Amino acid sequence: MIPENIINKILNEIVAEELIGLTADLVKINSVWDPAAGTSEQPAADLVAAWAQKQGFEVQQDEVAPGRANVIVTWTAGTGTRTLMFEGHTDVVTPGDLAAWHYDPFGAQIVKRRMYGRGTNDTKGNLAAMLIAMAALKRSGVTLAGTIIGGVLCDEEDRMLGVQDFIKRGHADKVTAAVICEPQDGLICTTQKGALRARFIVTGRMSHGAMPLSGLNTAPAVAALINALHTLEEQAAKDPGRDEHLGWPSFTPTVIQAPATGASQLNVMPREAMVLVDIRTIPGQSHPDIINRLNRLATEIEEKTRRAYEQYDQLLGLDRNRNLKVAVEIITDRPCTLTDRDDPVVRASHRASVEVTGKQPVYAGVPGATDGTFLWALKNIPIVTMGAGDRQVPHQVDEWVDLNQLVETAKIYALTALYYLVD
Ligand SMILES: [Zn+2]
Repeated sequence: MIPENIINKILNEIVAEELIGLTADLVKINSVWDPAAGTSEQPAADLVAAWAQKQGFEVQQDEVAPGRANVIVTWTAGTGTRTLMFEGHTDVVTPGDLAAWHYDPFGAQIVKRRMYGRGTNDTKGNLAAMLIAMAALKRSGVTLAGTIIGGVLCDEEDRMLGVQDFIKRGHADKVTAAVICEPQDGLICTTQKGALRARFIVTGRMSHGAMPLSGLNTAPAVAALINALHTLEEQAAKDPGRDEHLGWPSFTPTVIQAPATGASQLNVMPREAMVLVDIRTIPGQSHPDIINRLNRLATEIEEKTRRAYEQYDQLLGLDRNRNLKVAVEIITDRPCTLTDRDDPVVRASHRASVEVTGKQPVYAGVPGATDGTFLWALKNIPIVTMGAGDRQVPHQVDEWVDLNQLVETAKIYALTALYYLVD
C-alpha cells in the first residue's frame, strides 16, 4: 500500500508551466533529419542532456550517426531488480508545405489549451512529460525498488536507428518493462501491428511495343501476383480474422511499376517490373510463414506464367525463350507486439490512469510500428504505448496537443513508475 501523501507529493511536483515550457523549448528546435538543410536531432538531444544534468540525473549521449544522438537519462531510485524505461523520440517529420500551416511549425504557439507545432503531438510533448515525471519522482524524495531509464532516442520516424543502437550498446539488457511515449489520446495500448514489406521483381525480355512477340512481357505475372496477394489477404481475413484492437490484417500492393527503374515509354515493353507490398499483421499471424508463402508465390507465378506463354506460343506457332523470372526480397520484418494484460507494467499503467483520471482506462492497439517494436521483438521487453495527443494528428499540418491532457499524461507516467517499482 502506498500512502496517499506520497502520491500527492509526487503529483504536486508536476507543475504545468514547467512541462509546457520544456515542451515549447523542444518544439522550437527544428529536429527534422535533413542533412541538406542542416537540421538534425542533435540540438534537441543537447537540450535534454543539459536539462537532465541539472536535475541530477546520470546522463549519457551516444552518437548513433554523425549529428544524431541518443540521450540516456538514468535515475537509480533505489535497490531492486526492476528497471522501467520511458521511451520518447527527438526527431519529427517535415512540416511539408509551410503555406498550408496556420501556425509557425516551430513556434510552439498556445491558443486556449492547445499548443501548435511540429512535434507537439508526436512526440515532444510526451517526451517532456516523461522527463518531468522522472524529475517529479526524484524531487518527491520517494525511494523506489529499482531504476528508471529515460531513452531519448533519434530516428524513430525513419529507420529506427536510435532504438537499435540503444539495444546494441546493451542499454536494454536490464530493462524489465517500457512505456513508449507516443500520442495515443490517453488510451492504454498493449498491442501494435506488425509490418512485413516485400519487393517483387519480375524479369522478362525488353522489346518494341509493336513487336511484343520478340520479347517477353512481365505484365501477366504482375497481374497474377496482385490477384494472389488479394487471395492471401482474404485468407487472413478468415484466419486469424479481425483483431479486437488492431482491426484487419492487410496485404497491400502499394507500388506497381514497369520498368522497375528508368523512364517509361509507351512503345517500349520493359524488361523488368516491380511490385512493392506493404503487409500489416496482427497477433495470430506468423511472419516466417508469410515469408515462406511469398517465396512459394514467386515460384508458382513464375511457373504459371511460363506455362501460359508456352500454350500461347503453341497457338501462334512460336518457339520463344520463355525464361521469365519472379524474385522476392523482404525489405522490412517487424513483428506485431502483444503485452499481457496481467503484466506488471500494464497493471501499473492501469492503476495510474484510474488514480489520475478517476475513470477506467480504455485499451487499444497501435496501428503503426514504434521504437517499442524493437524492444519487444529483440529483447522480449513488455511494452505499453500511451501518451497525450489525438491519434489522427501526427504528421498533419497544424499539429497540436491538448495541454490539459499533457499534464495528465505526466502524472500518469509518474504514477506508473511508482506502482511498477513499488509493486
Ligand atoms: Zn512518434
